[in-house]
Amino acid sequence: MKVRLIERGSGGQKVHEFGDGEILIGRGSDNQLNIEDSAASRRHAQLTIAENSCQLRDLGSSNGTFIGQERITNRELKNGDVFLVGRTKFEFQSVAQSASTRHPVSDAPPPLGSEPQVGQQADVSKGKPNGRRSSSSTWLYAIFSVVIIGAIFIFFIPAYPVQSGTVLSCSLCNREISNTVTTQHVPFIERSNYSISRSTGMCNECGTQPVNYSIRYHCKRCGKLIGTEVKTALRRETPTDQDRKEGYCDDRCRALDESDHFIDKGTQILDKLSPTSGLGNLIQLP
Ligand SMILES: [Zn+2]
Ligand SMILES: [Zn+2]
Repeated sequence: MKVRLIERGSGGQKVHEFGDGEILIGRGSDNQLNIEDSAASRRHAQLTIAENSCQLRDLGSSNGTFIGQERITNRELKNGDVFLVGRTKFEFQSVAQSASTRHPVSDAPPPLGSEPQVGQQADVSKGKPNGRRSSSSTWLYAIFSVVIIGAIFIFFIPAYPVQSGTVLSCSLCNREISNTVTTQHVPFIERSNYSISRSTGMCNECGTQPVNYSIRYHCKRCGKLIGTEVKTALRRETPTDQDRKEGYCDDRCRALDESDHFIDKGTQILDKLSPTSGLGNLIQLP
């Protein structure tokens, strides 16, 4: 494992880092960790750093090695332990190989290596509130602009699709005869000017079917039905105004209707202008 020792002694604070191995701590200059402390022995203590543990052993020093208040001879160090060699304090940190063991390290006074991270975090936390404040008003302006532009677009720019034209369909079979509907793009406010008009007619198929129609003849004078005539025509050409025609049921009706000098006398008519008989002279009808 990798360990970090933060030394706090007469010479101020120092940071030491070690990998696996044995580290001698003492006043002597041949120690891997040499401390300038008159209270420390020349060879005071030893750290044995293994893969998963770190042992602190006192090497029979005169003033002893302490973890907290306890004088120890041999003890496994845990992350965050503070031990005393002479008058020099060491804080023990296990430098993690993985991120999970790194968290306790960051609780300690900031070591050199992690300072940029702390700095970055501080910058980020300072920067964010300012950013939010300005971005919220920016958002308001943005939404407002979008609404205005949207309104202009919808009401004035010809992009609203409308359909207009006529649809003619057969009144008998409902088939579409013609269709002139087209789609145009007009401003939203003009959309009501456009519509589809629908009307009915007769399609070619229905219109060319033959149909019978009858003409009934009535006497022009007496109204009596004289006769019926059945005719055939194409459906679309069927004359609707010829179902009733007029004629005369007999010569008497014809004579009385065509000339105002005949007088109706029931079964006889009187010719007012007859030179031979004058008034009262009856004409016998067949
Ligand atoms: Zn039809
Ligand atoms: Zn008649």
